[in-house]
Amino acid sequence: MSLNAPHTTLLLIEDDPQIQRFLATALEAHGYTLLVASTGAQGLQLTALRQPDILIVDLGLPDMSGLDVIQRVREWYAGPLLVLSARDRESDKVAALDLGADDYLTKPFGIGELLARLRVAARHLARSDDGKDQARIEIGDLSIDLASRRVVRASKDIHLTPIEYQLLTTLARHRGKVITHRQLLREVWGAAHVESPQYLRIYMRALRRKIEADPARPRYLLTEIGVGYRLVDELDFPESAKTTI
Ligand code: CA
Repeated sequence: MSLNAPHTTLLLIEDDPQIQRFLATALEAHGYTLLVASTGAQGLQLTALRQPDILIVDLGLPDMSGLDVIQRVREWYAGPLLVLSARDRESDKVAALDLGADDYLTKPFGIGELLARLRVAARHLARSDDGKDQARIEIGDLSIDLASRRVVRASKDIHLTPIEYQLLTTLARHRGKVITHRQLLREVWGAAHVESPQYLRIYMRALRRKIEADPARPRYLLTEIGVGYRLVDELDFPESAKTTI
């Protein structure tokens, strides 16, 4: 099955033996090879030595902060990097994402959620390998044609303002991944506006009114409270998920 990843090596940098065991069992059952480091120093060493395809970094490590690990490892490691974080530590998650982490999982997390994140990571890897982006993105009944700048939902054309379109395509290019408020503000409005989250709220509300069947219960544009927004990945969209099983 395509969700298996026979040649993908993950490195987990985490000191909690329970999480080490849980991930070893779950990931090996899905065809991943898992390496484990219990300290930040060991993690940095193993990353350099073994060059894993994907890194999973816990933010609470015994010898150094997970944020320091991310900062140091990002000087040479460009692969997908997921962070494990405790609940209620939104500022840590934001800091990790702004330092170059790709996404996070909040403890406790389920294997389904982890596999979904890994699928997104693997796809971003594959896409950067072949060097080309898709010209058309389809998620559920939403279709975004980047070449013709046409957005269609449930066979109806959706008319977006230039800012709404840019917001949607920024999230779409990173679909499946969380994008922080700062990252979105920088990409859509420019570096001078990273401290203006109110823009984001206003435009996100407008965008949801146009593309969500029920804007109060969004299925495409998800809020990650205190962190940012995520455009759901097509593989995780309920209808399309059913057809791939
Ligand atoms: Ca830990």
